[in-house]
Amino acid sequence: MSSLSRRHLFGAAAAIIATAAAPRVFAQAPAPAAAPAGPFGLPPLNYPFSALEPHIDAKTMEIHHDRHHAAYVANLNAIAKANPQLATSAVPDVLGNLNALNDDIKFAVRNNLGGHANHTMFWEIMGPNGGKPEGEVLAAIDRDLGGLEKFQTDFNAAGGRQFGSGWVFVTVAKDGKLAIETRPNQDSPIMDGKRALLGNDVWEHAYYLNYQNRRADYLKAWWNTVNWSKIAERYAAAKSGTLGI
Ligand code: MN
Repeated sequence: MSSLSRRHLFGAAAAIIATAAAPRVFAQAPAPAAAPAGPFGLPPLNYPFSALEPHIDAKTMEIHHDRHHAAYVANLNAIAKANPQLATSAVPDVLGNLNALNDDIKFAVRNNLGGHANHTMFWEIMGPNGGKPEGEVLAAIDRDLGGLEKFQTDFNAAGGRQFGSGWVFVTVAKDGKLAIETRPNQDSPIMDGKRALLGNDVWEHAYYLNYQNRRADYLKAWWNTVNWSKIAERYAAAKSGTLGI
């Protein structure tokens, strides 16, 4: 690829990325992505857009999945055209070694692969009829986070304190220890060699249609959408070292 076309490619990608990264991205959401034009794919939702109502409305889910997450995937495919190793490496290997990337793509990969990983986890750990924590996960919550009630209160408070766009996570170490941690923008615990057991998206695009500026109400209601059996699977995978994203 000539340097001219390379600049053109990254100029175009940067324009898309700038749109996707803007704080008020909801109002600026790009049109739904067309069929995959590269190695990265948008993971399908395993439940209808309306499945999480009334806690998360169907329109928010549709825009969030089909436009916001799709934009991260489209951006990754644009970057991967000139950087095919991006798609052939495991996501944790890339996110855990961002400094190994060339400066011209480092920021875009951080935002878009981080966003892809965070949202892939997010769709997975939500669903209708999510049940309650039990077994090893509940024992770990009791041991490390002060019990379910204190954990949810602390998690909501951390999500409320995250200034601007970002995420609130429960990270899980290889020994199974849990911790509440926030990250700005689309940063992921994977970037620090950790894994997210679960996480909630506190970007305005995740809740603004239904909750406007009432992030605290969204954080509280979100617990009704959490799929605890999936989280139990993720916890077991994290302890056995097989949890990818
Ligand atoms: Mn989001």
